[in-house]
Amino acid sequence: MTRFIFITGGVVSSLGKGLASAALGALLQANGFKVRLRKLDPYLNVDPGTMSPYQHGEVYVTDDGAETDLDLGHYERFTGVASRQSDNVTTGRIYSDVIAKERRGDYLGATIQVIPHVTDAIKNFVTSNLEEEDFILCEIGGTVGDIEGLPFLEAIRQLRNDLGRDRTMYMHLTLLPYIPTAGELKTKPTQHSVKELLSVGIQPDVLLCRADRPLPEGERKKISLFCNVDERDVIPALDVDTIYRVPLAYHAEGLDASVYRHFNIETGEPDLSRWETIAETAIRPEGEVSIAVVGKYTVLPDAYKSLIEALTHGGIANNVKVNIKWIESEIFETESEALHTLEDVHGVLVPGGFGERGSEGKISAVTFARERGVPYFGICFGMQMAVVEAARNLAGIKGASSTEFGEAKEPVVGLLTEWMNGNQLEQRKLGGNLGGTMRLGAFPCTLQDGSRVREIYAEQDISERHRHRYEVNTEYRPRLEAAGLKFTGMSPDGLLPEIVEIPEHPWFIGVQFHPELKSKPFEPHPLFTSFIDAAVKQARLV
Ligand code: GLN
Repeated sequence: MTRFIFITGGVVSSLGKGLASAALGALLQANGFKVRLRKLDPYLNVDPGTMSPYQHGEVYVTDDGAETDLDLGHYERFTGVASRQSDNVTTGRIYSDVIAKERRGDYLGATIQVIPHVTDAIKNFVTSNLEEEDFILCEIGGTVGDIEGLPFLEAIRQLRNDLGRDRTMYMHLTLLPYIPTAGELKTKPTQHSVKELLSVGIQPDVLLCRADRPLPEGERKKISLFCNVDERDVIPALDVDTIYRVPLAYHAEGLDASVYRHFNIETGEPDLSRWETIAETAIRPEGEVSIAVVGKYTVLPDAYKSLIEALTHGGIANNVKVNIKWIESEIFETESEALHTLEDVHGVLVPGGFGERGSEGKISAVTFARERGVPYFGICFGMQMAVVEAARNLAGIKGASSTEFGEAKEPVVGLLTEWMNGNQLEQRKLGGNLGGTMRLGAFPCTLQDGSRVREIYAEQDISERHRHRYEVNTEYRPRLEAAGLKFTGMSPDGLLPEIVEIPEHPWFIGVQFHPELKSKPFEPHPLFTSFIDAAVKQARLV
């Protein structure tokens, strides 16, 4: 029997609802339950693929090629359960499906309304594509009171009626702000937030209260009384030193116990030893390295959420703390002295990116790392810029560029117009729709024997996730290889370059895919482990 836990948020956004959901998922798993996490996003975009990372943070890509909310990354990292297309939906997608059905005449003349047609579509989404999970944890994006969230709240309200109390639970995340002049944690915003939920017919079963200090007994009683929630189900969620401690902290406060009490489930103590180990390793590293991330969205760390996590995992695997030095690539174009900032780092990473702005700066960073023997890791756009750099400066192809920036004399990176996705031929045209039209999701790649990546992965055939429109042009392969840049990972048909490396360099690898999306705390991605290992060696040199 699958049970549903709905997670809503109140008071303010950015309380870490995604992390809270992921941590609860991990706790339930630690008691042997099968879980899956889902997210309902109330915005109107069909998916976050067309949204600027400045506004919405990273786009998380699943194996099955969905462009999803970054919270799915938390879910996957904390539970190890691979997210799928059917785990994230937006208002935009719900409405476009409902309207498409209406146009086909599927509703047989009915007047199409938010209730029941839109709410039915939402309920259908929440309860479909299950695989005998014990728990579905379903997070509703935004904050209660948002106009666009109403149909989602209405749908989950109805699900209590449809499935019964035994199969549904409402968890609400709120904030208890500390007011220094009063010397108190304040409960009023939580009371108001619960009132708001009640106004749409939802009585929370558990309150998870974010606070920066312990919750006095009196305040807990007050919340319980005003919000109609059992005292034992008012759970303080205090700030912790590392995100890996969140499951441990919630367990200590009894969040999982609340869930089992609600559903009348008898369980033993969960095995949380691996969380204890990782939290301790994360906060007590034996050394540190500094990695420059040269990109465009460096003011908003959420834009590189998975990347930061993957670097941290690589650090944990090597027992070092990874300090990230965020560098706006454009400064290498405008300030000639700026490259000096790279002199004290132990590795340079150019992450995924789009558009011409800042690209010459990224290329300068590649030149620096290549010439100085500093470990270089290029991801997606960072690989493409490494190829352009090698073409210009190693192979002497002066006009080398990417057609992403307009017509190129020497298109070493060009638009991919046709490729095979399984048995299906996918085609793209210049100037076509931007939404959902990239090479997306998991694709296989074959590694060349004797190459560095073959050794790093310790296997020949790998699968990694993609999200890009342009590809390295194989026409240039012979000249680039002769100049020292080897193509060591290719699609199995040999047509698409997936990995390039410079064997003569201490560590210089560019990958067309996004390895950061698959890195997990308990399974650090081998490329990140190896990159940080190279950075540790570099740190001994400088
Ligand atoms: N802009 C490049 C492309 O579309 C790279 C994309 C990326 O880095 N994700 O191919």
